Amino acid sequence: MTDLSTEPAPDLAAVLAHIDAHRDAHLQRLMDYLRHPSISAHDIGIREVAGLLVEMLERLGMEAEAVPTAGHPMVLGRRSDVAGAPTVLLYGHYDVQPPDPLEAWVSPPFEPTIRDGRIYARGAGDNKGQHFAQLLALEAHLAVHGRLPCNVIVLLEGEEEIGSPQIAQFVRDHADRLRADLVVTADGPLHPSGRAVLSLGVRGMVGFDLVVRTGRTDAHSGNHGGLMPNAIWTLVHLLATMKTPDGRITIEGLHDPIRPPSNAERAAAESLPVDIPGYLAEMGLVRLDAPEGRAFHDRLMFHPTLTINGLHGGYGGPGSKTVLPCAAVAKCDVRLVPDMTPDQVLDCVRAHVARHAPEVEVIGRGGMLPSRTPIDSPYTAVVADALRLARGEAPLVVPSFGGSLPDYVFTQILGVPAFVTPYANADEANHAPNENLSIELFHAGIRSGAALLSRLGGMRTEG
Ligand SMILES: [Zn+2]
Repeated sequence: MTDLSTEPAPDLAAVLAHIDAHRDAHLQRLMDYLRHPSISAHDIGIREVAGLLVEMLERLGMEAEAVPTAGHPMVLGRRSDVAGAPTVLLYGHYDVQPPDPLEAWVSPPFEPTIRDGRIYARGAGDNKGQHFAQLLALEAHLAVHGRLPCNVIVLLEGEEEIGSPQIAQFVRDHADRLRADLVVTADGPLHPSGRAVLSLGVRGMVGFDLVVRTGRTDAHSGNHGGLMPNAIWTLVHLLATMKTPDGRITIEGLHDPIRPPSNAERAAAESLPVDIPGYLAEMGLVRLDAPEGRAFHDRLMFHPTLTINGLHGGYGGPGSKTVLPCAAVAKCDVRLVPDMTPDQVLDCVRAHVARHAPEVEVIGRGGMLPSRTPIDSPYTAVVADALRLARGEAPLVVPSFGGSLPDYVFTQILGVPAFVTPYANADEANHAPNENLSIELFHAGIRSGAALLSRLGGMRTEG
């Protein structure tokens, strides 16, 4: 158990003034960084960019290294300036998505170009512009004060865009070198309203296929209809036992481990802006999914889902084909909330299928644990306050994103609170052509990173 007391923060104002005075130089250096492709899916430029980052971290006075893994290297740096101050692990990823389709880009993806107050390049928002802002925040503190206000570990991954296949093992193998009091990730977009966001969690995920074969070949629906079981009906009947029309998932035991949200988490979710008519219009919907009456953010944060991704079999071409299908597959995923696990869900699905349709095979496709940092962590208010200091407005505190990221490697394997503080514009077009980052938000990101270090520097940990 760590006790925390608050000490006066070092002179943040001077650091912010330094950052404001170096806007143009910072932007030029981001453009230089973005000129280096680092496409993990195609293994293009990865080692070169990892090398550049190690040099960059060494210039910040860090012990730095590109640590080999079974995949692309992890860039790891560390600087311990203040005994007794917290250690923050700043996580990001230096790999980018492939830029295709190239013809859809207004300017080439690896020739950063400024238009309308934004920098356009692959990786501008996801994630080079964001972790580079964190590094420039370190640099600004060093330039003004000659040291950092707290202890810092930088971890930059080279495989996030291909699903982070090595990170769990890496964190297990190097837990001693990654020992920190909190993890902060600058990634993702601000709220569409432009408000800053502080996110505390993600849902987990597990995928599975339901596969059935009822005969040797597809058959004539007249000559064999009534004799041969239909593989698609078999799956339809099974699927109907897994979720009711009013939206209840009915797989026995699936909900058992769910930890209900705390009152503070519920209150935070309720205080987030909601625009249901706007969402319906944007998505072309006439209603939200069942169950009726469940609050908008509760649906994304506090409940699991069971999604049929696709149901395949038989004939789907033009005209008719009076065929009786002998094989069918339903591809499904479940989004998980704490403390569900992929293995627990697959066990429940297998038991349910064995009871209702034993001829159906369940093939698990792996998954990811959920992650949730308690909103009453002593660092929640500190990280939120840093964003307020840097941007002049308190962030929206989001108990959990609906999607899935491997934050569990920090909250569950390292056992430390993990926060996501996005710096990019909501329309950053990451993974898409014309990815971009608002220059103003890049600048605000550097300020946010600097304020974070300063606020952490005002805290003391006692082991
Ligand atoms: Zn991405």
